[in-house]
Amino acid sequence: FSVMEATDAYLDRIERFNPELNAYITITRDSAKAQAVDIDNRIRKGELSGPMAGVPYALKDLFCSEGVRTTCASNMLSNFISPYDAHVAAKLKAAGGVLLGKNNMDEFAMGSSNETSAFGNVRNPWDTDKVPGGSSGGGAATIAARLAPMTLGTDTGGSIRQPASFCNITGIKPTYGRISRYGMIAFASSLDQCGPMAPSAEDCAITMNVISGLDSRDSTSVDRAVPDYTATLNDSIEGLKIGLPKEFFSAGLDAKVGDVIERAIKEFEAKGAIIKEVSLPNSHLAVPVYYVVAPAECSSNLSRFDGVRFGHRCEDPKDLTDLYERSRWEGFGAEVKRRIMIGTYALSAGYYDAYYLKAQQVRRLIKQDFDTAFADVDVIMGPSCPTTAFGIGAKKDDPIAMYLEDLYTIPVSLAGLPGMTFPVGFAADGLPVGIQLVGNYFEEARMLNIAHQYQ
Ligand code: GLN
Repeated sequence: FSVMEATDAYLDRIERFNPELNAYITITRDSAKAQAVDIDNRIRKGELSGPMAGVPYALKDLFCSEGVRTTCASNMLSNFISPYDAHVAAKLKAAGGVLLGKNNMDEFAMGSSNETSAFGNVRNPWDTDKVPGGSSGGGAATIAARLAPMTLGTDTGGSIRQPASFCNITGIKPTYGRISRYGMIAFASSLDQCGPMAPSAEDCAITMNVISGLDSRDSTSVDRAVPDYTATLNDSIEGLKIGLPKEFFSAGLDAKVGDVIERAIKEFEAKGAIIKEVSLPNSHLAVPVYYVVAPAECSSNLSRFDGVRFGHRCEDPKDLTDLYERSRWEGFGAEVKRRIMIGTYALSAGYYDAYYLKAQQVRRLIKQDFDTAFADVDVIMGPSCPTTAFGIGAKKDDPIAMYLEDLYTIPVSLAGLPGMTFPVGFAADGLPVGIQLVGNYFEEARMLNIAHQYQ
């Protein structure tokens, strides 16, 4: 079939299901069709080939995409048209992908349920009374409902892995530095990393091949050869040493989720893997550390949205201070304001040493725990999150309960390690569960191989 037929099929599904799911903020119907015509022509003439040629895809709405609205699900950027493409958007475009639209998300990627979006919450396709997770909730719902075969999300503290678990899809957060952050609107720069979300590990591998690698426009992107992530998918996992961190299987874990994870571990054992217990003794400090580091960095990053350089500008300001204050007051939602206030406090004179510096020191200890564990095992496995998808509204007014959603994903982000989630079954409540797989630095190929062997 032609690229146009594939594009039309997805656009039709989006038209049918998006009104209920709200997984897309912007649907780029016309430009997708124009791209499809062009790509069909180029494929026919032999000018374009490769696994991404003609593949429709979506982007989380924090990747700048030239000529397309890029909102971060915020009133602050509700009519911002980006003049350029993010590095990863340009890579997918050059490889012949067809952009279907921009996915809903938590505002500025702050949240775990997609309920902080200024464009309304997203519904989980498996149970529309439940959240899809967040902050890449629109992307996870998009893949689960087959409103695109692939999308890019971002993960700062779990935002690819937790929604992947809630929606029964595969998502990978690569090693910090593997993929350029250029043109990806920043939340917490020392943690933010982009990664693919798709039905399978193989789809993620194909995407990783296109988007990974050095980019001089992101000083944290790493100059390291990009392997062919699809080449090793069928390697044997016999003798693989899997570490189970005992802290991830303690009281906080819902037994329904624990049962599914344990069943999956047994299957790995049956395939020849060796299971060992490991310990990450400082992992209970990860959420408090994260909620100093991430807000501190966000308070700095979001200072650019002042109604002058970027973003919403209030009507009839009295003076410059009034313009800043009212523009930001009107533009940002409650969760974003909460983070800016916490972060500004943590960075202010006299508090920096007590909070930010201390948090960075504990962050190092958390990283060292992983180094110790990886001396004994090849990979680490455990739950992605303590529960299955929860009800819309259930945790909305309880930030602490919401923050604890990321108990198992945040330590990995603080260490800069690659983490992924892939589906391993359904819990007793009928909702999907994804297992979390953590690899050592730059071991994405091995991780995708392991997930592929399970699927
Ligand atoms: N849920 C976490 C937060 O609210 C992580 C978000 C993310 O990874 N972008 O910050």
